[in-house]
Amino acid sequence: MEWSRRSFLSAAAALPAAPVALAAMSRPQPSASADSFEPWLQVDPTAIAANAREIARLAGGRPVIAVVKNNAYGLGVRLVGEILRDIDDIAACAVVTPGAAHELADVGLDKPILLMARVEDADAEALVRRGVRLSTVDESTGAQIERIARRVGDPIPVHAYLDTGMSRLGVPFRRATEFLVSLGSGGAAIIEGTFMGFAEEDEFDAMQLARFADVARDARRAGVSIGALHAASSHALFFRQEALLDTVRPGLVVYGAYPAGARDTDAASLTPAFRLRARVARVTRLEAGDGVSYGQNYVAERPTWVATLPVGHADGYPRRAVEGCEVLIGDRVYPVIGAVSASHTIVEVGEEPSVRVGDEAILMGPDHPAIHPNEIAERAGISVYDVLMHLSARLPRRV
Ligand SMILES: *Cc1c(COP(=O)(O)O)cnc(C)c1O
Repeated sequence: MEWSRRSFLSAAAALPAAPVALAAMSRPQPSASADSFEPWLQVDPTAIAANAREIARLAGGRPVIAVVKNNAYGLGVRLVGEILRDIDDIAACAVVTPGAAHELADVGLDKPILLMARVEDADAEALVRRGVRLSTVDESTGAQIERIARRVGDPIPVHAYLDTGMSRLGVPFRRATEFLVSLGSGGAAIIEGTFMGFAEEDEFDAMQLARFADVARDARRAGVSIGALHAASSHALFFRQEALLDTVRPGLVVYGAYPAGARDTDAASLTPAFRLRARVARVTRLEAGDGVSYGQNYVAERPTWVATLPVGHADGYPRRAVEGCEVLIGDRVYPVIGAVSASHTIVEVGEEPSVRVGDEAILMGPDHPAIHPNEIAERAGISVYDVLMHLSARLPRRV
């Protein structure tokens, strides 16, 4: 019989399709076995604990609110929630979606959870009942807090988010004193904290901080209790000592990456808390003139070995890694060549086939300077925030 499309389809029709599909559905997790050729993300609790210690030191012992937004900067919010639960240097966590707040509560994080976002009433009430702190994203949030407090029958702890110049979220600074006085004296809210975010532009930050200090001073003079002041993200921890205030609120540094410009300082030693890993799926020899991947951007000038890694930009490895990034296999790094496709990355091995199918590769992590997330960001010409936050939520996680 000729092997045609029709015979393939009729052969497939003869297979017991339903039981196969059911078996696949009942499989608990994407394969994360040690021998799997699926790429995976390894998360390192020890590194997160060490980073938390460094942050607490940089913050001069002030309490640390760890920002775990955007799936904990790509690492996985549930997993990171479980890790932070046991780290005493982290006093609280902050998120930007109700879903993430619930996930943290679900893993039993027994630290305050701050939600820095607008939420609808139904979500707000459910969150408040679980102890999550709402923020004021504009003046109308004052009325929402009153509604929720009435429903739950008690004043609720909140954080007053003020807009001192980002024009993103918060009560605009020009009307903030009035707002704080009204919120603080209305009986519905207990203002546990008052906060702002910086634009991370040197002179402008100084002006923002001055605006914030003015509002805080005026509100307190008016007799309102406005709780702990916080403003410092990772950048301010390194570059704006006077903004550390009562408590700090960093994200990026928790996961071991440096804000722009901070890696060259020796103010702190952070450890990337994750590794993007995969196992070599193919090793082959190219002849002179053979090209690699979409666009054939790479053409071998002389015979050379190349290795294929089954991990690509759909998993979060940057497309632009082809502009100078390297991959660690064994104790050597190999340059990325050709193109990073959705699920594949190819590296040049060289004249000797020093890499074998099944060898473990690390595309990002703390193990070599070339694969440090900040180095990847620099070589690929992208933001280090993108390097972390684009890690796919579908990657199997291993601790
Ligand atoms: C993201 C975010 C942070 C943390 O910023 P990093 O630069 O990651 O430290 C702090 N505060 C707010 C309001 C944020 O949105």
